Amino acid sequence: MVERKLRTISDVICPFCGTLCDDLEVDVDIKEETIVEIRNGCQIGTKKFFSSNPSGHRYTKPRIKENDSFKEVSWDEAFDKAAEILISAKRPLLYGFSSTECEAQSKGVELAELLGGILDNTASVCHGPSLLAIQDVGAPMATLGDFKNRADLVIFWGSNPVHAHPRHLGRYSEFVRGYFRKDGRNDRFIVVVDPRNTHTAQIADLFIQIKPSEDYELLNAIRAMVRGVELDEKEISGVPMEKIKELVNILKTCNFGVIFFGMGLTQSLAHHRNIDAAISLVRELNDHTKFLLMPMRGHYNVTGANIVFAWNTGYAYSIDFSKGYPRYNPGEFSSVDLLMRDEIDASLIVASDPASNFPAASVKNLFKHPLISIEPHETPTSANADINFPAAIAGIECEGTAYRMDSVPIRLRKVKDAPGKCLSDKEILEKLIEKIKEKKGE
Ligand code: SF4
Repeated sequence: MVERKLRTISDVICPFCGTLCDDLEVDVDIKEETIVEIRNGCQIGTKKFFSSNPSGHRYTKPRIKENDSFKEVSWDEAFDKAAEILISAKRPLLYGFSSTECEAQSKGVELAELLGGILDNTASVCHGPSLLAIQDVGAPMATLGDFKNRADLVIFWGSNPVHAHPRHLGRYSEFVRGYFRKDGRNDRFIVVVDPRNTHTAQIADLFIQIKPSEDYELLNAIRAMVRGVELDEKEISGVPMEKIKELVNILKTCNFGVIFFGMGLTQSLAHHRNIDAAISLVRELNDHTKFLLMPMRGHYNVTGANIVFAWNTGYAYSIDFSKGYPRYNPGEFSSVDLLMRDEIDASLIVASDPASNFPAASVKNLFKHPLISIEPHETPTSANADINFPAAIAGIECEGTAYRMDSVPIRLRKVKDAPGKCLSDKEILEKLIEKIKEKKGE
């Protein structure tokens, strides 16, 4: 038997969800330059690392679509064709950016400005309403370390971390021992508010099953009751008054509470008004005890995308450069709305797969126009692209910076080389900018 020579890299950051776990250990086969073992990762994070190994789904060379089939081309040819498409477009859309590192995101801003295009990230279909609400009423937040060490009441509202952020519970919010919570799970009371009896609800101390899209009514009823108002109702949002009273009492008597809210709250009927109400509730609870809240961000660097876009333009997502300066108007300049109105005429999708999660009518319009994809894997979006640039995977095959869901920046590590001659997202965007400037004579 031939003995395998391995290289072990420790303290690796997982580039999958917004928890950005920073304690993974990865074994890489030195000869094959493939990942053979991951320790400490959850199932979904581990799968992302293994997906970087060469496979039938991994691109290693740029491809251009011709007569409904793909041919592999040189990088120069792909840059040349992509630059032509983007220069001749009147309203190009640049979308994605939440599963790549901050330096690539910054290049995306530069390219959107150069093209006078629309720049958007995945917040426009997930926590965009949270950003709108935070702009309206502010947000009392802290770091995940604060919650680990201090929180004795943890509420998951419209979020299901057992599936979406599996190690969040073990590292920060439920089972973990903290400085002031030495007995871990026994020192915390867990509440889940959700229409579904999720796996997170099944391990909670109290499950409040709410009618779908009636979060706003329940949040405001709780706000009134926290202020001492007696409500003459038998139930609100499907929750019996007795249970709401029990919850209000728990909220007011804890030492340090936190609401972790997910897309169940941001994408139910009242959208950003739900988050306004949640933030206002948390603010009012601070008259009685210490209370904070935090959005459960999904893509590992969607927080970074919002921060980097805001540094550069003043706005976190849904930005239009068509007048030569950035304008912000979610609903008008957000990707799904633009696509539904068929207002774009070319697109560049970076590290994202909108074809898998946008409404079908908008995907149809996306595919009607030239589509350029920067993506390491075959996905419904990249498989329908006119040009595909195979990228090295940030956080596995190249370094970079990412922001955790609590806005703490963490440096991603490289554990192996990319297969073939893949460039990083940042290098691809840089070269595209150079080519466009050259063609425009700038
Ligand atoms: S919880 Fe998230 S960041 Fe942590 S290992 Fe799992 S997918 Fe990766």
